[in-house]
Amino acid sequence: MVAIDKNKPICVTGASGYIASWIVKYLLDDGFLVHATVRDSSKESSVAHLLKAANGAKGTLKLFDADLIQEGSFTKAIEGCELVIHTASPFVIKGFTDPYEALIRPAVEGTDNVLKSCNAVESVRRVVLTSSVASIYGDAVEILKAPGGVFTEQLWNNTSSESHQPYSYSKVMAERRAWEICKNQSRWDLVTINPSLVMGPSLTTQTQSTSIDVMRDLGSGRQRTGVPLLEFGIVDVREVAKAHISAGFNPDAEGRHILSAHTASLLQMATILRARFPKYPLPKKQLPKFLVKLVAPIAAGVSRDFIQKNVGYALKFDNSRSTSSLGVRYRPLTETLCEHFAQMIEDGLLKRR
Ligand code: NAP
Repeated sequence: MVAIDKNKPICVTGASGYIASWIVKYLLDDGFLVHATVRDSSKESSVAHLLKAANGAKGTLKLFDADLIQEGSFTKAIEGCELVIHTASPFVIKGFTDPYEALIRPAVEGTDNVLKSCNAVESVRRVVLTSSVASIYGDAVEILKAPGGVFTEQLWNNTSSESHQPYSYSKVMAERRAWEICKNQSRWDLVTINPSLVMGPSLTTQTQSTSIDVMRDLGSGRQRTGVPLLEFGIVDVREVAKAHISAGFNPDAEGRHILSAHTASLLQMATILRARFPKYPLPKKQLPKFLVKLVAPIAAGVSRDFIQKNVGYALKFDNSRSTSSLGVRYRPLTETLCEHFAQMIEDGLLKRR
């Protein structure tokens, strides 16, 4: 049981990111002193939305520069904090050639570095880590073997690797490393948040998060000929942010927490959006698996193995720990998707029609 002193600063790593910027905003609104780490605080595009959130809020924002692959670079930001919320980790699934350097090294070495700094700073009592459902399962087909046909916090992704699902591999290796480091000391405890695909309005247009790409691909017309039967767990970014804060301050919070409100296929998401945004070239058809297998490796750079193991499976997540232990209340899917889409139009990330 850990009671965090609310008068002490809270450290949030990767503060400029899609999820973290909501965490920072809520903390500032609640009057906290936030030690926010970014890679480069002199880059206006990385911090403008954080400064805007701080402007007029009850709390105070202090920016620190820190890089995941630079040992010791988080120590200064963590000094004086009892609570550290570690979100920084790349969430990209394409556009790189070396998965180790692009994903695995920053995720695993980064977790190592942040937690070593937590070990070095006497004040730290709790670490909340942004993990993922990607550290619970690797491919959708694993649902067939999940006890009761449901993904739970008991499960671990044992199938991803550097060459197959490297993002998922980066998340499971980082979370495993975090539990290992936690076990070897007794001053701070670890609580993990394991969200499925996070959607909902973003406070920044600069994020590289795949969450934004999924919505852009749906709304831009890129998928107008049809989409594979790919199903996702989906959760609103605002619920994910609040869950991190609740995990930080609930003295009894412990262990892993799946954050997933709904499951929907790409076509179901498009159908919900079309009702509100009828002028957009959203996909209307589901493509047969054999056709996806044939064209996806060339059209989308996705392997046949990925298609085989992920297309056509219905997912189910047990989110009961998030509601009982963290008090999460999930909003309707329509609200999450439509508010996200509307905000992307507003920000010029989708053409106004
Ligand atoms: P995001 O907007 O791209 O945020 C990622 C953050 O990581 C950025 O602030 C980025 O900083 C930081 N980062 C990346 N490489 C870094 C490095 N070498 N040193 C320091 N910081 C670095 O993506 P997000 O969706 O908010 O993801 C945040 C976390 O949530 C990640 O751990 C991700 O795995 C996890 N997650 C996301 C989802 C989702 O659907 N979005 C679902 C489950 C879990 P810069 O701004 O400096 O690049």
